[in-house]
Amino acid sequence: MAGLRAPRRPIFAANWKMNLLRDEAESFCNDLRGALGSPEADVVIFPAAPLLDSVARSIEGLSVMVGGQDVHHESEGAFTGDVSAPQLLDAGCVWALCGHSERRRDHAETDSLVGAKARAALDHGLLPMICLGETQSQRKAGETMDTLSRQLHAVLDAIESSLDEEGEPRFALAYEPVWAIGTGATATPALAQEAHDFLRTRLAERLGTRRASQVRILYGGSAKPGNVAELIAEPDIDGFLVGGASLDSVSFRAIIHNSAAAG
Ligand code: PEP
Repeated sequence: MAGLRAPRRPIFAANWKMNLLRDEAESFCNDLRGALGSPEADVVIFPAAPLLDSVARSIEGLSVMVGGQDVHHESEGAFTGDVSAPQLLDAGCVWALCGHSERRRDHAETDSLVGAKARAALDHGLLPMICLGETQSQRKAGETMDTLSRQLHAVLDAIESSLDEEGEPRFALAYEPVWAIGTGATATPALAQEAHDFLRTRLAERLGTRRASQVRILYGGSAKPGNVAELIAEPDIDGFLVGGASLDSVSFRAIIHNSAAAG
């Protein structure tokens, strides 16, 4: 399946997690304003929920999108602390992160709940960015591909019927090996490519080759300015979901710049 290379527009996504205050978020956006230009890529910032509104305002006029770090599977109701897809849209979001491993781990999110969240995002007009990835013990036990397959099929079961036959797929995947997140232990390009190729092959079985070739699959896990060029050179790596290195505008910009220079 590698080499099934539609011209996919890369995505650079900043997952700020539970970091930054409003002033810091605004100055990050101002730094982008000075230096980003019009990248041949999509740039997305996922701030914590209280920052969504100010980030959405701060990126006005920039070719940058904003997204929620999580989305509830119901559109409203008695769900204290949660955020719905209509609320994310109302705050200016275009994307919603679904199934990040920290949510799966800390909030006991199951594969089917992740699927329901992605479905809710799509049904309300948001683009879900769906995170998948194996833990260290799953990799050691030789269960990486089974894990990815299970996570992917659960989400496709939930969203397939709401995907358009025509047009670009309204979702993206982020392969994030859990052992690489926040650890400095980045996957090698070959290892990441193997997982991305596997995911694209499974997508092709479900959605057909043409649509599978259009789905953007990001890599996440200790991506930084020094390692993105060799990763994005792989045929099925279509950008990055960046945690730690996205908190500093200089390193986030360098990730975009170094990737573009490699392309
Ligand atoms: C993430 O949490 O999505 C992530 C990729 O984090 P980091 O870049 O810090 O590994």
